[in-house]
Amino acid sequence: MKREFAVIGLGRFGGSICEELSVEGMKVLAIDCDETKVNEFKDIATHAVIADSTDEKVLKELGINNVDHVIVAIGDDIQASILTTVILADMNVEKITVKAQSDYHEKILNKIGADHVVHPERDMGKKIAHSLISSNILDYLDLSDDYSMVEVKSGKKMLGKSLIELDIRAKFGCNVVAIKHDKEMNVSPRANYQLQAEDVLIVIGADDDISKFEKHYIID
Ligand code: ATP
Repeated sequence: MKREFAVIGLGRFGGSICEELSVEGMKVLAIDCDETKVNEFKDIATHAVIADSTDEKVLKELGINNVDHVIVAIGDDIQASILTTVILADMNVEKITVKAQSDYHEKILNKIGADHVVHPERDMGKKIAHSLISSNILDYLDLSDDYSMVEVKSGKKMLGKSLIELDIRAKFGCNVVAIKHDKEMNVSPRANYQLQAEDVLIVIGADDDISKFEKHYIID
């Protein structure tokens, strides 16, 4: 059975979520209080309706509690975002994902019943900052407040050396969980694997440890 989603707030973020879910063949109910926005999504979403999501009665009439996953993508109006999340949690919506505007907003959303909070501007800023430090840093993902995952190209100092020689876990406290070589993904690589140019390493660890590893091996 097709999964059913509702996207509340059709700005750039909510709009792109709505478009992508629709392209993937999901049923999407698109909601915004702005008629112009709703008209933009009439031919994209399964249904597009003008509604104020802070009105509990309206959300009930739309049958939002029968939707599998609701994404609250209201940005600037933090009060509306919080109120909408409280109403959805109160209605026992199965899964609620909310876009946060700030760390403080994120903390509140976690307390009031959001299942998942996303912070796209902050996350994208971090990713871009890391890629600016070195062209060898390809991707960066926060796993928690203190842990992250990076995707890095093998640095010059690593070439021809095996993982056991590099001894990344003992020296820096982080783990190489996979190596991409010629588009092949080698998950949990063996200790005797020798690194080659253009290999891509997926490394997980505490932020400080990852930073030390990058400074030593990755950043030219
Ligand atoms: P972007 O994703 O473009 O960066 P943003 O994060 O700045 O946008 P806003 O523009 O604040 O987000 O809000 C996104 C959308 O949410 C807007 O189209 C706005 O009309 C809609 N919106 C705001 N409040 C409500 C509400 N109470 N009910 C329904 N839609 C709302």
